[in-house]
Amino acid sequence: MKASGILWVSLILICIVSPTTVNGNDLEILSMGTARLDITPDEPVRLAGYGSRKEMSTGIHDKLYVRVVAFEQGKKRLVLVSTENLGFYSGTYPYMLDAIKAELGIAPEEILLSAIHTHSAPTLTLDAEKVHPNNVRYTEFLQGRIIEAVRTAMGDRRPVSVGVGTGSCAAGVNRREERPNGTIVLGRNPQGPHDKEVLVMSFKETGGKSRGLLYNYATHATSLGGANLQVSGDLIGIASNLLESWQQGSTLAAAFIGASGDIDPWYRVLPGFKTENGWIPETELLGRLLAVEVAHVLEGIDTYRGGATLGSMSRTILLPGKKRGTRFVEEGEELPPVPLRLSAARIGEIGILGIDAEVLTEVGLAIKQGSPFAHTLIVTHCNGAQGYLPPKHLYKEGGYEIDTSPFAPGAGEIAVKEALNLLYDLAGSQSPQ
Ligand SMILES: [Zn+2]
Repeated sequence: MKASGILWVSLILICIVSPTTVNGNDLEILSMGTARLDITPDEPVRLAGYGSRKEMSTGIHDKLYVRVVAFEQGKKRLVLVSTENLGFYSGTYPYMLDAIKAELGIAPEEILLSAIHTHSAPTLTLDAEKVHPNNVRYTEFLQGRIIEAVRTAMGDRRPVSVGVGTGSCAAGVNRREERPNGTIVLGRNPQGPHDKEVLVMSFKETGGKSRGLLYNYATHATSLGGANLQVSGDLIGIASNLLESWQQGSTLAAAFIGASGDIDPWYRVLPGFKTENGWIPETELLGRLLAVEVAHVLEGIDTYRGGATLGSMSRTILLPGKKRGTRFVEEGEELPPVPLRLSAARIGEIGILGIDAEVLTEVGLAIKQGSPFAHTLIVTHCNGAQGYLPPKHLYKEGGYEIDTSPFAPGAGEIAVKEALNLLYDLAGSQSPQ
């Protein structure tokens, strides 16, 4: 039986609404703190993201960091965490969240715990036999570092005003390439859809001193492939490091990854960092391209506003599932629904929508286009890790994201509708849907 969309819309599992989100007082002071901590592994580990790679890491190309931006306004709090990792798979999201809650008293709807999806960082696991004892040790270490970073950011808050700007970058490209025989492979499809927006939020203290920035861009961090054994934040980690070093390390640049399920870096799955005879490693080239655009957008931001309204809400919905390895749900097949966690936040007229899935770019664009906020960031790999969430029309084409998705056709459209309902609830206005 093909699942009907209407049935699933009604199946909202949990609804956690922060009591502090309604009618935020614009006059209340918004304060913000940041923290950046080194999370580079200090022993060889298995690297995440390519199932075929069994070897241990052999060295460090660039250090990994966790970056935190923490806000407070009256009793409202919002903590944005950018972790240089693949994502919180294999039960590691509740492992991190429960510890943060226990140590710092932060509620689940007050935090967006996200990963940049680099495929050159340690696999997170609590199972030494399945992966490696060093990876379990690393996961425990990371839990402590995230808690420490959140605590530091919360304790370092000062009043801020907020600026926002947008640009565009071609570091990523649609990867669903059609072969002459009609099959879709992981390649390069420059004519395919891609949300190229580079959204930058910048924060200033009273007196004009920078308090740091965050940026949102949609690409997989997979310029390095399964043959690479060096630890790296890939193009995203390199972009953040550059932005911070250009500002002489005085301010933070935290990356949040947009709807990039079908977006790869322009140069992808390279064996490593080639430097012979003056060659610029592609990963560094793409990281630099993105960082330059973020810096240009930052320079163009000339309006900073104080007293932005802070708020957050989260909701878990149930979506129709399908078997991985298939495209459609068979006639008469009864499959359990798949939960999807939607985490919404607002900072003034800027909306943020976190999703615990690998959202394909058209799904993210639909949420941005329907959003009640002037600007909307889509943050994927956020508060958990489900599989690919494609739009319905791609199922007939097939391809990697479709075959491996746990979601049935139509799930993406339900997710868009529910995401918009949540953003409208947060904005305190009626959804036109
Ligand atoms: Zn992926």
